[in-house]
Amino acid sequence: MIFRRGLETKSAEQVERMRTAGLVVAAMLERVRRGAVPGTTTAELDVLAREVLAEHGARSNFLDYGADAAGHGGFRGVICTSVNDEVVHGVPGPRELLDGDLLSVDAGAIVDGWHGDAAITVEVGTVSDDDATLSRVTHDALWAGIAAAVPGARLGDVGHAIESSVPEGYGILEGYTGHGIGTAMHMAPDVPNVGRAGKGPELVPGVVIAIEPMVTLGSARSRTLADDWTVVTVDGSRGAHWEHTVAVTADGPRVLTALDEGRGRLAPRTPQ
Ligand code: MG
Repeated sequence: MIFRRGLETKSAEQVERMRTAGLVVAAMLERVRRGAVPGTTTAELDVLAREVLAEHGARSNFLDYGADAAGHGGFRGVICTSVNDEVVHGVPGPRELLDGDLLSVDAGAIVDGWHGDAAITVEVGTVSDDDATLSRVTHDALWAGIAAAVPGARLGDVGHAIESSVPEGYGILEGYTGHGIGTAMHMAPDVPNVGRAGKGPELVPGVVIAIEPMVTLGSARSRTLADDWTVVTVDGSRGAHWEHTVAVTADGPRVLTALDEGRGRLAPRTPQ
């Protein structure tokens, strides 16, 4: 890896290895999405994700995340399951999903030392129109951010694109950002969901970032529950979370955690 203009870049071969990890993450999320029906517990969803990791011989970057030197206090799942007013970092457990729940699932995988990270929001049964719109707004914000991750753009352009795409009245969760990713899940730089166009380090081919807008129906402020993980909105409003791991390439953004690499959502990448 080399450092250029402040941002670490990966070689084409390293990006390919990250693509392998990204496909495992995509498979985990698809399995969990199908399993997220009323009556299922979030612990059962975690088991589904563990099965996908095992099938691919991949390791989890979520399990034991944040553990102390003695191995205590780390995250207890391979996915985060955040229900309704829980926006991110929900811990899988005995909670049963109910019809109308809005469930965010964050998943990650390590293959040969390279990390992938992505999140989806799942409508459990039939959700309210407001919740469906919240998820769509958040998903649109993710893709606005991804579309801005092109060579020559600045990091601030990504946050600006996300912020600009979220309509008035929604909260963009404060204090949480996307991140660089590669040989660790969380690397420099932070990738904020707000920003000023034209500001920050330049994006060049080989930069890989996780872009992850977290949006609420109300307050942008949150607190962490007594489990030390689960992040809930202060006003009880519901949140949504969508995330992809994205490589900047000369041909445009390559979405490593999307089956189609983002081609269905982005303008065609023109080979040089
Ligand atoms: Mg992430």
